[in-house]
Amino acid sequence: MSYQHLYQDGTSVDLPLGKVVCVGRNYADHAAELNNPIPTEPMLFIKPATSVVDMDQPFEVPTGLGSVHFETEMSILIGSTLSKADEAEAEQAIAGIGLGLDLTLRDLQSKLKEKGHPWEKAKAFDGSCPLSAFVKPVLVADLQDVEIKLTVNGEVRQHGNSSHMLNQVLPLISYISQFFTLTPGDVVLTGTPAGVGPVLPGDELTVELADLISVSTQAK
Ligand code: ZN
Repeated sequence: MSYQHLYQDGTSVDLPLGKVVCVGRNYADHAAELNNPIPTEPMLFIKPATSVVDMDQPFEVPTGLGSVHFETEMSILIGSTLSKADEAEAEQAIAGIGLGLDLTLRDLQSKLKEKGHPWEKAKAFDGSCPLSAFVKPVLVADLQDVEIKLTVNGEVRQHGNSSHMLNQVLPLISYISQFFTLTPGDVVLTGTPAGVGPVLPGDELTVELADLISVSTQAK
């Protein structure tokens, strides 16, 4: 199934799908719930383009690999190339704001972390990154005051606000670009608030970004 970046109003975004750069433990309450210390610098990892699927479609939960957790995150679509960018350049490059699920094989991640191995397999597998359509930046008055909500089977499981990010969006994008050139069509996932938990086939998920985006999807 092919994926194409879209705007919420149905217009297609004329940008190719690239990599997804993610930040771990960007909300103190989420770091605490997994008994992880708060990092002193942004903790980055990458999901490849092959991990991305359309959130509007039912998404597959891997089986036989232990628990799969949902992490609901605000996503940022990058519209122009950023390398060693400052915050003003980062702001100029934002082409859209949306939602992503950073699906995580939690048991596998724990095992790999114990061994001191990279946890790529737990984070970057095929289908591990359902993405919503994006809204244009002009519709978001303040990037650091956006509500993020996940409801699973009618029960609110995650309810956060981007005001609680440890690394705010613009410094984060600038930091990322010191290491990885961001190219048009890349996406940045900005970390998850507390409340992460397992997702099972058949679960009905609704993800919401303030009153801007609401997507209902199903795990299969
Ligand atoms: Zn995450």
